[in-house]
Amino acid sequence: MPSSAVTPVLRDTRALLDPLLKRAEHCPALTAGAAGSFLSEGGSHEIVRFRFKGPHAEHDPLRIGLFAALHGDEPAGAEALVKWMTELVDEPWRVTGYDLTVIPICNPTGFEANTRHNHAGLDLNRQFWQRSSQPEITILERELIAGNFDGIITLHSDDTSAGLYGYAHGRLLNEALLKPALRASERVLPRNRAAMIDGFEASEGLIHRCFEGVLSAPPQQRPQPFDLIFETPALAPVELQVDATIVALETLLDEYRVFLAHSINL
Ligand SMILES: [Zn+2]
Repeated sequence: MPSSAVTPVLRDTRALLDPLLKRAEHCPALTAGAAGSFLSEGGSHEIVRFRFKGPHAEHDPLRIGLFAALHGDEPAGAEALVKWMTELVDEPWRVTGYDLTVIPICNPTGFEANTRHNHAGLDLNRQFWQRSSQPEITILERELIAGNFDGIITLHSDDTSAGLYGYAHGRLLNEALLKPALRASERVLPRNRAAMIDGFEASEGLIHRCFEGVLSAPPQQRPQPFDLIFETPALAPVELQVDATIVALETLLDEYRVFLAHSINL
């Protein structure tokens, strides 16, 4: 949907991130830094990366990468990640055994201008692993390589959907994690049960196929991590999108723990 006729809502990345950056100064489990920075005509921009290390479990820490606001006009995911990490500072047991790398605002110029695309007018979520020259992609691909993640979760919101849904990319593990996450978050917002969502066949809010060039693990990474996209209905109240996302995230992590416990016992 073209949004050029709509008066732009200008947003401030610092207003969202600063309270959490302050918390990081006093919480050893939470660290923050620049994943990278770049220049546009509007000035200099930073992509901020947080890390949260949950209490130790008996296994090696499970590395999860969480990404939001690749589309700058979808702030709910960024707000959800910030709220969740703020809660984790006080209740770290909720992510026992996990090492989280969190980039709440992947597209800072789009976030500030409230546009889907970045400052160059490109949809960043079609640019991954295609030798893109966009600085955001260079920074994010570097994070995806360095993170060597066991799981990748990307958050979006969709103003054409009346309910929650997700992309599982046709992989069984992704589906096995996404199904209970949708079931749990459905207590907060309805699920989209349409037969077609976003131009793809869907069942019970699950889409198997996907667009080319979406944020994903490096193609050469072995084994490939679990890798899924969670979508909230953009026109629902933001607080509910945030709460539904946090419920979904914690369910995904709990289910992944259960999956690993079962596979170790096989
Ligand atoms: Zn999106």
